Amino acid sequence: MGLNFLISGFLILISFGYLIIPNSPQFYGKSIRRINTKEKIVALTFDDGPNPPYTEQILDILKQHNVKATFFMVGKHIEKCPYMVKKVYQEGHEIGNHSWSHKVLICRSSKYIRKEIEQTDKLIYQLGYKGKIYFRAPKGLKFVNLPRILNSQNRHHILFDVISWDWCCPGANKIVRCVLKKVKSGSIILLHDGNGDVNFIGTDRSQTVIATDIIIQKLKARGYGFVTISELIQNNAN
Ligand SMILES: [Zn+2]
Repeated sequence: MGLNFLISGFLILISFGYLIIPNSPQFYGKSIRRINTKEKIVALTFDDGPNPPYTEQILDILKQHNVKATFFMVGKHIEKCPYMVKKVYQEGHEIGNHSWSHKVLICRSSKYIRKEIEQTDKLIYQLGYKGKIYFRAPKGLKFVNLPRILNSQNRHHILFDVISWDWCCPGANKIVRCVLKKVKSGSIILLHDGNGDVNFIGTDRSQTVIATDIIIQKLKARGYGFVTISELIQNNAN
């Protein structure tokens, strides 16, 4: 009973972290949560993959709707299914770096953080990806050392302004509602095709798959277009 209470408390804390931490100050470089534009464009981002078969199911939905997205992948998962990197970029999507092990990168040494970033970059490039690789920290947590390192690499930290809560598996309709309530021009939408906190792949993301289909249809009906993170940043009026 006591342990369950502690675990629940911890999970609630982590969940609220998503709301608070992306807004936390940083002393170096720039985090992008949304871009300033009047154009009705948004970027769908999928974190914590690759995670078959859910990543492939999301790719199929994106293809059906002719939509391009950005996948922030975890190095340790890429290592288990490297073919997914090629599949994602060959279908015209962008690949981002979401660290190697998905361990929180605050209070870590520069050496540790650099290794988490560079090992993942290296593997993505070894698998033939040619585009620019943007970075998103595990759980969006940044603080001082990580922004300083990203700044030295001339790299923005890509966050999000629309949280879908899909990692809590609240049901596809709830995920859709969370996104539609918050979305605006220039938004970066956070969804998950995988789970970075496990050492195996296969976390059920079927709710995200269903929700992605509905979100695209509803946003298209509202006149929104979909772009990758690179394309979104090119439209930044700031
Ligand atoms: Zn993550």
